[in-house]
Amino acid sequence: MSDKIYLGVDIGGTAAKLGLVSGEGSLASEVFEYPVKFDDYETPIIETVVKGVKDFMEKNSKEFSELEGIGVSATGGINSKLGIVEGSAGHIKNWKGTNIKERFEQEFGVKTAVLNDANAAALGEMWKGAAKGKENVVVMTVGTGVGGGIIVDSKILLGRKGFAGEIGHIPVNVEGEGCSCGNTGCIEHYGSTSALVRNVKKAVISGEITGIKEEEVDGRLIFKEVEAGNKAVIKYVDEWINYISAALVGLVHTFNPEMVILGGGVSKQKKLFVDKVRDKVLNGVMDNFAQDLRVEAAELRNDAGIIGAVKFVIDA
Ligand SMILES: [Zn+2]
Repeated sequence: MSDKIYLGVDIGGTAAKLGLVSGEGSLASEVFEYPVKFDDYETPIIETVVKGVKDFMEKNSKEFSELEGIGVSATGGINSKLGIVEGSAGHIKNWKGTNIKERFEQEFGVKTAVLNDANAAALGEMWKGAAKGKENVVVMTVGTGVGGGIIVDSKILLGRKGFAGEIGHIPVNVEGEGCSCGNTGCIEHYGSTSALVRNVKKAVISGEITGIKEEEVDGRLIFKEVEAGNKAVIKYVDEWINYISAALVGLVHTFNPEMVILGGGVSKQKKLFVDKVRDKVLNGVMDNFAQDLRVEAAELRNDAGIIGAVKFVIDA
């Protein structure tokens, strides 16, 4: 057992979560949350987070000199070679261009490494979650969007700058509808939970699905209807699962993983989601890829980013 202690910081669009993590990857403190959106980002997130880190250290009676490193998981397109927010962060003001690494190292005097939140979550799952001990893993997170991370030989795949693993923008329907990224037919547009909700709502409006109200349609209701055997809803869920599985089949053929991890709220649906995706993926890939391939739900939930970011700074 090492006595090394790290700080993990997970910066999302609504809050930053902070926790101390041991060199073995267990949480060594309570996780504290600091809201970042309170004035619609007029106060830049980085200022809120720097203040939060100081407050957090004080609350835990820790000196910065006791930290071996700080791992930061952050929303947006992160250049993890430099620790800078470079890619679009959508609606978040005062965020693009932020040099997180430099600011943290100047402010706290502690080695800092920064990576994209989806990549951090993937590393967390490999280190302490569902893919513990696995060396080649594809993680797909299905939620408002579709995100992910790819682990190759125990390392998160970063690409040239750290943008790799943006699997939500794999086109799966080249003649399909436009995606928020500007391209056409991305898996994010067809396989996110928002896509499923959008399509079911449309079918409710058109009268194809009856017995439910448009304003009540959300992920939970959709799965309740599937459970109850609502055939019209099942059709849409099957179509959605087909898109997700198609993208995963492509990823399995590209990376030959031992394991595929499904994250996001919907991964709690074992029978109606995880089991179905597993069947489709195992049937869709070539036999030699299917051998011993496991498809499972993520385990770490809320702490994956904090823990994965610390793994990243340890390896940096
Ligand atoms: Zn896209």
